[in-house]
Amino acid sequence: MNLAHWLDRIARQYPARPALAHGTRLVADYAALAARAAAVAGWLRAAGVAPGDRVALFMGNHPRYLELLWGVWWAGCCAVPINAKLHAKEAAWIIGHAGAALCFTDDGDALREAGVECALHADAGVGDAAPVVERGVTDPAWLFYTSGTTGRPKGVVLASRQLQWATAGYLANIAPVGAGDVMLHPAPLSHGGGLYHLPFVMQGALNVVPESGGFDAAEVFGLAAHWRRASFFAAPTMVKRLVDHAKRSGLRPEGLATIIYGGGPMYLADIEEALAVIGPHFVQIYGQGEAPMTITALPSAIINDRAAPRWRERLASVGHAQCMAEVSIRDADGRALPVGESGEVCARGDIVMEGYWRDADATARAIRDGWLYTGDVGRMDADGFLTLLDRSKDLLISGGSNIYPREVEEALLTHADVAEVSVIGRADAEWGEVVVAYVVARGPVTAAALDAHCLERIARFKRPKHYRFVAELPKNNYGKVLKTTLREMESRA
Ligand code: AMP
Repeated sequence: MNLAHWLDRIARQYPARPALAHGTRLVADYAALAARAAAVAGWLRAAGVAPGDRVALFMGNHPRYLELLWGVWWAGCCAVPINAKLHAKEAAWIIGHAGAALCFTDDGDALREAGVECALHADAGVGDAAPVVERGVTDPAWLFYTSGTTGRPKGVVLASRQLQWATAGYLANIAPVGAGDVMLHPAPLSHGGGLYHLPFVMQGALNVVPESGGFDAAEVFGLAAHWRRASFFAAPTMVKRLVDHAKRSGLRPEGLATIIYGGGPMYLADIEEALAVIGPHFVQIYGQGEAPMTITALPSAIINDRAAPRWRERLASVGHAQCMAEVSIRDADGRALPVGESGEVCARGDIVMEGYWRDADATARAIRDGWLYTGDVGRMDADGFLTLLDRSKDLLISGGSNIYPREVEEALLTHADVAEVSVIGRADAEWGEVVVAYVVARGPVTAAALDAHCLERIARFKRPKHYRFVAELPKNNYGKVLKTTLREMESRA
């Protein structure tokens, strides 16, 4: 099935429903959005782009982005969304690797200079409308290039199968969607956040692209207050900025429905503060490009149930396997581990990618016996709650003991003067590795004070041996801390 059938169907059922807005301005109802997608598809066809061809989108968030994306699908092509913050050379690499026939971009000159040979256009023209092109459920629909915190990004092949199940998973596990519901897009549409517009098109609800094209806390709160029943995806760093803004402005945010957070660790201290300052609007997801939106979910009913036994423990978890996925914790030999033991988090089901684009070896390493090996280490409790410990490659071994940096980070973040922290290992002749904490302080704090703080909270052997106070942590374009860069910094320290 081609996903564009959703748009075609909803436009026939509810042509006048609001579909797309830019800030507070409505730009299309469903009839107009479907007509635009059909015209884009006709234009692509006339430009010689055939069903199955890849069409890249290298542009910031804008309503045009969604019109083009649906046009690409209407034409039976596969979209290759590329983060607009990437360097032209990085984007050029992705366009080449995907073998894109055409790229929509505002940065044509830079891409040309970076060696891109395919057709480059800022927008599509108007072609003859034709019916939605038929596609199979496993035909590629979205090549999702991983954020590449190490090495070259890999192209995750998502077909309409994964996108349909991800959408059903949203409705079943995150929140129902209907007329009058609104999805804001402060996070890049090219990445996981972009998938959140799908349930809103499927159900004929409104997608809103902020005018700034990015994340601005005041703008997000303003749009929620304007449109009401507003939901959005926010990475943990964005949640922190929302909380800071709400605290500074002293206003209780209005018009919020659901804030979906995930994509990186949310520390307990931070989510507790977010609940206190912003209110009971949060749902957590844990997924990855290879199994998007989502592998597990922690629903708001559980997040808000403070009276439940082990509430804090649950809040620190990433919740249950969502209905459309199975989760299993496995050891290095692929054996399923019992409750409570930590191992690699594996996922199975129709949300798992078809494979990596033109990389059979990487696919075979990632999917074994039908299970996707996520590279994350976690453990499951007797009630099925999954707690993530870390990425397997971030695990430290000091004096023969495993140390999960996240646990040390959680402890340090409960100190009032610690704004951000990231923990890595440093090679050490005596211990194998020792723990080093990079700290962004928000007050006058010393290494000795942090050491005393850790002594009260975690085992002695997990305490950082060194503290490095920095103005900011190195992050990639998605706001994820680059531990590889910290390790390089540490090797020079
Ligand atoms: P990406 O494919 O770039 O979205 O990155 C996916 C990775 O982000 C996962 O494999 C996890 O390591 C991390 N991640 C995603 N969601 C969460 C979460 N809720 N808590 C902790 N880490 C997460």
